[in-house]
Amino acid sequence: MNYKTHINGGILTGLYFSSQMTNSPIITSAAFVGGALIGSILPDIDHRSSYIGRKTKVISKTINKLAGHRKLFHAPLMYLLLYSASSGMMINKLFLLGIKGVFFGVLSHLILDSFTIGGLPWFYPLSKKKFSLGKIKTNSKLEDILCGILVCINIVMFLDILHITSIFTFIPK
Ligand SMILES: [Zn+2]
Repeated sequence: MNYKTHINGGILTGLYFSSQMTNSPIITSAAFVGGALIGSILPDIDHRSSYIGRKTKVISKTINKLAGHRKLFHAPLMYLLLYSASSGMMINKLFLLGIKGVFFGVLSHLILDSFTIGGLPWFYPLSKKKFSLGKIKTNSKLEDILCGILVCINIVMFLDILHITSIFTFIPK
């Protein structure tokens, strides 16, 4: 999937969770959504022609050489391990929330990549087998449609959060 779809997946994840954080200051939602945005494109750092890969040339090239594409950096088990480790860190609460946002953004990336033909190595490094839940080709018409749907959901969710509309029932009034 391309970075536009991933970013919209990250926004959706960020907006959903911040809509559930009732009575918390706007800065906490901002930290979480910001983290989710970064996380949503982060795994593709293992591919140097990806959006984030082009921004981080040397780092991306090195990671690709060492870890390959859609292997370690697309491995849910690795992120689960890092997530558990970071949850126990004694750091600023807001920063921790931002990190949580990053992990949820990464999760949205991994779920979206699972719907591509190439699939995702859900159990890497225990198994190299890639699991595919869909037949979406990167940059295809089908991906454009999916991206469009995500954009629409995000707009409605944002309007719901601002109490301009009330379409989604999971957003508290
Ligand atoms: Zn990816």
